[in-house]
Amino acid sequence: MEIYKCRICGNTENNSTFDAEEKMFGTKEKFLYFECSGCRCIQIAEIPGNLSLFYPEGYFSLNLPKQNIIKNLIKQKWFQHSAGKKNLVGRVVNLKKGNAPFMNWLKNTNVNFDSSILDVGSGQGLRLYELELAGFRNLTGADPNIESNSILGKNICQIQEKYCRILTGY
Ligand SMILES: [Zn+2]
Repeated sequence: MEIYKCRICGNTENNSTFDAEEKMFGTKEKFLYFECSGCRCIQIAEIPGNLSLFYPEGYFSLNLPKQNIIKNLIKQKWFQHSAGKKNLVGRVVNLKKGNAPFMNWLKNTNVNFDSSILDVGSGQGLRLYELELAGFRNLTGADPNIESNSILGKNICQIQEKYCRILTGY
């Protein structure tokens, strides 16, 4: 069996592999991923040579949500409720829509509002904005396709390609 080395912590022991299908464009191409038994980071086994095939032009033209104060406030209450700051508005939305989407990633972790959270491949930082709305205070994004390092919000900084490379290897 091939040994995969974690790009985050360097662990090579007991890393389990699985296939993941491409879903964004529907090609269903399979890619081998592994989960590090040390830090639980999930990563692709081999980074494809030509990544631009998977991130065509316009991929990052994701628009941040329009500023509607009422909607944002409700969303904030929902996100806070999902993340553990219980409140009535959030509870009502939760009953209808379930937990905020980011909780799929966070539910099996022990993060709290002061935990350092790094979003590798953060694009324009939408996920980080959501986490900030929820109340997380120590957020960092890394993406090779942003123009420069920037401070996105009171609690968010975003770093660019050359730093990102250290983490992802590409
Ligand atoms: Zn690891």
